[in-house]
Amino acid sequence: MGSQQPGCYRVIADGPLPPKIVDRMGTQIELLPWSVAEQGSDQPVDALYTYGHPRVDGPMLDRLRGVRVISNFGVGVDHIRVAEATARQIVVGNTPGILDGATADMAFALLLAAGRRLVEGDQYARSPQFTHYDPSYMLGREIHGATLGIVGLGRIGMQIAKRARGFDMQVVYHNRRRRAELEAEAALTYVSFTDLLANSDYIVLSVPLTEETRGLIGRESFAQMKKTAILINIARGPVVDTEALTEALMNRQIYGAAVDVTDPEPLSRDHPLLKQTNLVLTPHLGSATEQTRERMGEVSVENLWRGLRGEPLLHQVG
Ligand code: NAP
Repeated sequence: MGSQQPGCYRVIADGPLPPKIVDRMGTQIELLPWSVAEQGSDQPVDALYTYGHPRVDGPMLDRLRGVRVISNFGVGVDHIRVAEATARQIVVGNTPGILDGATADMAFALLLAAGRRLVEGDQYARSPQFTHYDPSYMLGREIHGATLGIVGLGRIGMQIAKRARGFDMQVVYHNRRRRAELEAEAALTYVSFTDLLANSDYIVLSVPLTEETRGLIGRESFAQMKKTAILINIARGPVVDTEALTEALMNRQIYGAAVDVTDPEPLSRDHPLLKQTNLVLTPHLGSATEQTRERMGEVSVENLWRGLRGEPLLHQVG
């Protein structure tokens, strides 16, 4: 990790960071709190390390002298204005690929939970109301034989498609660009966005949050879905219009939803969405396994060090 003296690199990080990540950074890095990024610093700063999705934009970077790299813990970088960093000769690193399996597993956990009413069932099974088995209660929706529509067939989307095959689902997908080379591998069919909405029993969102995907699923989209459709959002909260989702669930316009991310995140504790029993909600756990988070720590710290040394990053955005 170079021949510098202890504390010779000044790195601003939001936190608290897990001790393992701090240890991995080593003693040559002096960690500064995120308030320094917000307020600016007279002394030069070498890098930013973004752990819990803090916002980074051009004006913030202009308040800091000397930043050469922003290393992000995670693949999604919608909280960082990448073009504004690039315009200032600052490289941005992220951690793609290593979290695909964990995030796809979570998408499937959500799909199964919503389709088979797992959370409601768990609550009922623990409650005093559960006094006897009744074959007519809590009927869910079939998963095997159903059609899964994947919006955003990238690294994570492809892993979701592979899992769907094991559940004997038909898989359709929509991207801006067709991925013909992947279609045979996972028995996929490319369809238009409208056809995907109209014909899917389960719709999984695995697109990045961009200006194009912000609000991608709104009132109009819910109106096109089957009444029995289930929406799964593993991407980012703002890809779905929160008010439209609340209405669609409240009015039983669709069967249900399972979302790992919300807009805002978290929602206010009295938000009506939280009262919908046909919603399964997790607190942004897509890549949250011990093993994957360990690898994300390795890659993000390696990106940080490479950027500090002026070497190409393992994964550079943009
Ligand atoms: P990726 O490999 O870049 O795949 C994204 C896919 O989305 C691409 O196939 C892309 O294809 C498609 N896409 C982009 N814009 C689109 C649009 N306007 N309409 C339709 N499709 C579009 O990214 P990834 O590694 O799979 O990650 C995807 C996102 O998942 C991340 O950006 C992150 O926000 C989110 N994520 C969430 C969690 C979590 O904890 N919940 C964990 C990891 C990742 P085209 O370019 O051809 O359109």
